[in-house]
Amino acid sequence: MCRQFQILCIAALLALTTATHAQTPCDSTRFNDTLLDKLVGYWDLRGKIGNREVTNHFSAKWILNHQIMELHFKDTSYEALVYLGYDCEKHRYVAHWLDILGGKYSETLGYGTRTSLSTIAFHFDYPDGPFFNQFIYDAQQHSWHLHMTSGNKTWGDEYLTQPYYQAVWFQDYEPFRIAGNLYYVGSYDLACYLITTPSGHILINTGIPGSEDMIRKHVEALGFRFKDIKIVMITHGHFDHVGGVAAIKEETGAQVMIGEGDGNVLADGGNSDVIMGGHGPLFEAVMADRFLRDKDSVELGGMKILVLHHPGHTKGACSYLFTVKDERRSYRVLIANMPTILDAVTFPSMKGYPDVQNDFAYTLDTMRKIQFDLWMASHANQFDLQAKRKPGDAYHPEVFGDRAGYEAALDDLRKAYLKKNTSSPPSSY
Ligand SMILES: [Zn+2]
Repeated sequence: MCRQFQILCIAALLALTTATHAQTPCDSTRFNDTLLDKLVGYWDLRGKIGNREVTNHFSAKWILNHQIMELHFKDTSYEALVYLGYDCEKHRYVAHWLDILGGKYSETLGYGTRTSLSTIAFHFDYPDGPFFNQFIYDAQQHSWHLHMTSGNKTWGDEYLTQPYYQAVWFQDYEPFRIAGNLYYVGSYDLACYLITTPSGHILINTGIPGSEDMIRKHVEALGFRFKDIKIVMITHGHFDHVGGVAAIKEETGAQVMIGEGDGNVLADGGNSDVIMGGHGPLFEAVMADRFLRDKDSVELGGMKILVLHHPGHTKGACSYLFTVKDERRSYRVLIANMPTILDAVTFPSMKGYPDVQNDFAYTLDTMRKIQFDLWMASHANQFDLQAKRKPGDAYHPEVFGDRAGYEAALDDLRKAYLKKNTSSPPSSY
């Protein structure tokens, strides 16, 4: 086959090599690697090492000014910290693998090459023989397979998956100007908002762990500096909105603000979350710089953001109300945290959240009364972003008016509340 189409084959190989190199550009200030970017985050780890079943956690994050990626493997009887960098002169990855097996193995560095667009193959020349570890990314499932061999034998296979993961949460989306100095910088479904001011910027929400590079790219594509983000505000402390907070705080030094009731969840990486907690961290823990309460205001560069405590979905859930201006007029904008009731919630109360039903009732009631010109929400699907605006559409703030859509969404949530209210047996907590 290749003999017949030799020229085509060479061209294809060249294209692959070019693409592979393009994925790992060398830069004296940053190691940019779009494949390794996909590894950032908190993962469930399952698999087999020899005959031993392993199941536990894995996490990865950029450290040291984005020059090194730190991997943390932790299962029931093994733990490793791995530091990955890139040697721009020799064009190869370098791995420092440190683990509980002690110093002998840490003396041997691993070297890696990109063997396909989705695979990095490492080899370690350990004193007792060569060892190979392939990191293989599955873009369809957003999952990783680590295939380890020693000699000719398979030594182990580990699979990394993100808990509760939905593809639309990580799917890239075109950033755009919503109204005045308010911009959309989130993914297809996880809404993140940038409010720009002459004194720096405010970012609302940060997506799932690993979204920070997508958000940075969006902020820069709109012509703003990522490092000018001074405040990160969160609508509620679930991992799909706070996943990028730690990385963004570290890179920008921004002040992190969250509803008071979600402070603990942010501080322990989601482990104390009443629904999703109890399985270790789901995102990198962060101490908030400020806890927000109802009717607080957050001010920066002439912007004044009113905090509306809307508990229920989480204890500290908040919506934000503020005014933005363009050349023609000003708009009162509501970033709504909609009171969605998760399946595992029980009424009238639940362990760790005794007031849950009352909080939902209060929020459903009070959200009706808010006056605004435009509204958006924590998830794009909650305010039908894709129906209201197509990528490439011209600037048109009015499409986000839609009071009727807001009321209909609240009607649906009230129905869900009533259904839960009558169908749930009284909780024993
Ligand atoms: Zn949530």
